[in-house]
Amino acid sequence: MPQLPAFNPLTNVNESPHVVILGAGASRAAFPNGDANGSRLPLMVDLVGCLGLGQAFQAAGFQKTVDFEALYDELATTGMHRSLREEIEAKVWSYFDRLQLPDAPTLYDCLLLSMRPKDCIATFNWDPFLAKAFLRNREFAPLPKILFLHGNVAIAVCIKDRVKGFSGDTCSNCGAPLQPTNLLYPVRRKNYKSDPFIFAEWKELEASLQQGYMLTIFGYAAPATDVEAVDLLLRGWGDNPTFELAQVNIVDIKPEEELRKTWERFLCRTHYGTTANLGTTWLLRHPRRSCEALAMATLQNDPWQENPVPRFKSLAQLHAWIAPLLAEENKGRFTGNPCLQPQDFGGNAPEKSPTAGTNWVLGWLKAMCKGRPYPSVLRGTGPKGRQPLQPALHCGL
Ligand SMILES: [Zn+2]
Repeated sequence: MPQLPAFNPLTNVNESPHVVILGAGASRAAFPNGDANGSRLPLMVDLVGCLGLGQAFQAAGFQKTVDFEALYDELATTGMHRSLREEIEAKVWSYFDRLQLPDAPTLYDCLLLSMRPKDCIATFNWDPFLAKAFLRNREFAPLPKILFLHGNVAIAVCIKDRVKGFSGDTCSNCGAPLQPTNLLYPVRRKNYKSDPFIFAEWKELEASLQQGYMLTIFGYAAPATDVEAVDLLLRGWGDNPTFELAQVNIVDIKPEEELRKTWERFLCRTHYGTTANLGTTWLLRHPRRSCEALAMATLQNDPWQENPVPRFKSLAQLHAWIAPLLAEENKGRFTGNPCLQPQDFGGNAPEKSPTAGTNWVLGWLKAMCKGRPYPSVLRGTGPKGRQPLQPALHCGL
């Protein structure tokens, strides 16, 4: 039976999750100039070239060395060239493991800070950027769940104790170093159940999809080698009793018609949008409030003003900008009031009357513009003090 989202009109809080799926196109779009050292973020089609795997394939007698998925699938299904397969896997791991986040705020920082713990980001990517962005933001704001559908070089686990953490962490139960997760490679016959960590991540995603009110698919092409993944996604989203009211956003550079065809089974009538730019989606136009903004516009007929995330040069500025939203979250009641925009603290712009949640951040943003140092308020002396540390990663093992 169709069901309304978990929206409370008395507090304007919507507990239904926004689920985001990230594919290789998301990392490419978020890091168009590569990592901090200029290393490129490969898509499957250019992975052989990016990682310099061509020579190894050619030495083993493969003539066409462009399509990594086809080549790896052949190695895996025939069981031949075992040493080549091991060499490729080692090179893939070491390439992604070396990638470093640039210091300036990235799209992944904005994405994480635009979502709350009820929300969920699930990535197919092996690169460490989502995990590293999570680590550097988690002290400043409660963040969404992050799930790794094909394993990840920055995530580690203790399978015995069902503990998930970051590379270099120790198990909170037995104290042993957490072990790297296995990367799931692009083969036609993937078995998502064979690896207990990956299986648990998918179960978590399925649960979020079943309760979701919004779904954003960012840079995931649903390749032929991932038919099973798309079916698993659909199993969660298709079982969602709020499907009829829910909204899907597809962020991709492909034409709308092609995207509609690919994702047809996920869409209810016209409740979807396609765009090439994540910045124009509900998520970044209503950071930390996307599900509330949709409910206010469609269920309450009282749309909220947009609150787009500005582009900041430093993470500290971005953290200060979202602080009023965090203050509201501590109170458990949302107003829909937008945060300050850069023009609000420009030289000649008239000063708006600040709300209780914004007056302290306004002062600091003005100070930042004059080159003052990092604010003491973010070190724990603000009106609400520092946000509590994010608990250890949730583990569904
Ligand atoms: Zn353990």
